[in-house]
Amino acid sequence: MLNYTEVMVRYGELSTKGKNRKDFINRLAANIQKTLTDFPDLEFHPKHDRLHIVLNGTSFEEVDQRLKKVFGIQTYSPVIKTERTLEAIEKTALSLMQATFKPGMTFKVNTRRSDHHFEYDTNELNSMVGDYLFDHMDGLKAEMKHPDLVLRIEVRLDGVYISNELLQGAGGMPVGTAGKAVMMLSGGIDSPVASYLALKRGVDIEMVHFFSPPYTTDKALAKAKELTGILANYSGKINFIAVPFAEIQETIKEKLPEGYLMTIQRRFMLRLADKIREKRGGKAIFNGESVGQVASQTLDSMMAINDVTTTPVLRPVVTMDKTEIIKLAEDIGTFDLSIMPFEDCCTIFAPPRPKTKPKVDKAREYEARLDVDGLIERAMAGIEITPIYPNQKFLADKSAEDADLL
Ligand code: ATP
Ligand code: MG
Repeated sequence: MLNYTEVMVRYGELSTKGKNRKDFINRLAANIQKTLTDFPDLEFHPKHDRLHIVLNGTSFEEVDQRLKKVFGIQTYSPVIKTERTLEAIEKTALSLMQATFKPGMTFKVNTRRSDHHFEYDTNELNSMVGDYLFDHMDGLKAEMKHPDLVLRIEVRLDGVYISNELLQGAGGMPVGTAGKAVMMLSGGIDSPVASYLALKRGVDIEMVHFFSPPYTTDKALAKAKELTGILANYSGKINFIAVPFAEIQETIKEKLPEGYLMTIQRRFMLRLADKIREKRGGKAIFNGESVGQVASQTLDSMMAINDVTTTPVLRPVVTMDKTEIIKLAEDIGTFDLSIMPFEDCCTIFAPPRPKTKPKVDKAREYEARLDVDGLIERAMAGIEITPIYPNQKFLADKSAEDADLL
């Protein structure tokens, strides 16, 4: 096991402007600290071009698991800080190479000095350390242009920093730098992926979820909450706003022609999402729609539904194929949960033949038969807000359930 002493974090897509840059760095530093709060020995040092995390004995592996998921990080490296002597540099370089080198790999040594009074210059250090490695390891092959491993040595006044891994960060922008929005989260495959993509662009989201007891079960609600817990790994706590939707669905079903059930339900969802957004200071509504995927997601449907608001409705997966969305859902860890068969409110009240080309005028005309304001007001009065933390569980685990049955 290597004793890494710190982690060097390099920033992502930095805006060049002064204040934005400061906001970006401050937010990223705060997000990194938040995701690592349960490691009390860590120290954080944000600088203008990168951030150092001093490990003070904390294992890099654990820190690595969290850092992977922080948006705004371009790359990061575990580093060993060592004394400013040739002997210490050579020993550390060797232990790093032995830990990461695999037969067939090529390498090079890349030295930088910020202390120009150090007794060796960069060329001397490159060749001395390279020679030392060749003397102590078999099968090494140097390669200057495209090496598999780069051993980076940085000589500074307070010590020498050595690393040979460049890990890919999650990219994107630090969550919070783009402002707040609401996300319409179902229990399906698409909206969790859309949530991840919104977070990746720095948007701080709150989940709006429609549920319809007694038609939908506690499990469907728990599933949406648990999906939020997975997404909270990428942002820290996310508020989950559950909105009761049964009265609206029953009323629409009773009073309006079947062909428009879906369109009008969606118009109500969007109105409610917009009301919640306004109350909570959000600036956009996100959802998981993809063009042409189902009847409610044709361009005609989107027009007829979007008619109820001028707030931007942003659809991160709008042009993605289902297979692409599924791939991403697997990568971010939501897929297995999304395919669990607890039906949500839309499935239960889905008409057998929804219109794929609903008309805006017709939708407005039918809706005028309902007490829209009263329905909205009562749904708003029934809202429940739950803060959800990374990996929080809401579905009883299967083994516990099996034990109950015995
Ligand atoms: P998903 O996989 O996200 O459920 P989908 O392809 O199944 O999407 P729909 O069920 O038609 O499509 O829903 C389209 C979008 O509407 C969803 O991505 C989500 O943003 C929103 N939505 C649907 N049902 C709900 C719900 N119960 N609560 C909140 N938002 C919902
Ligand atoms: Mg769905």
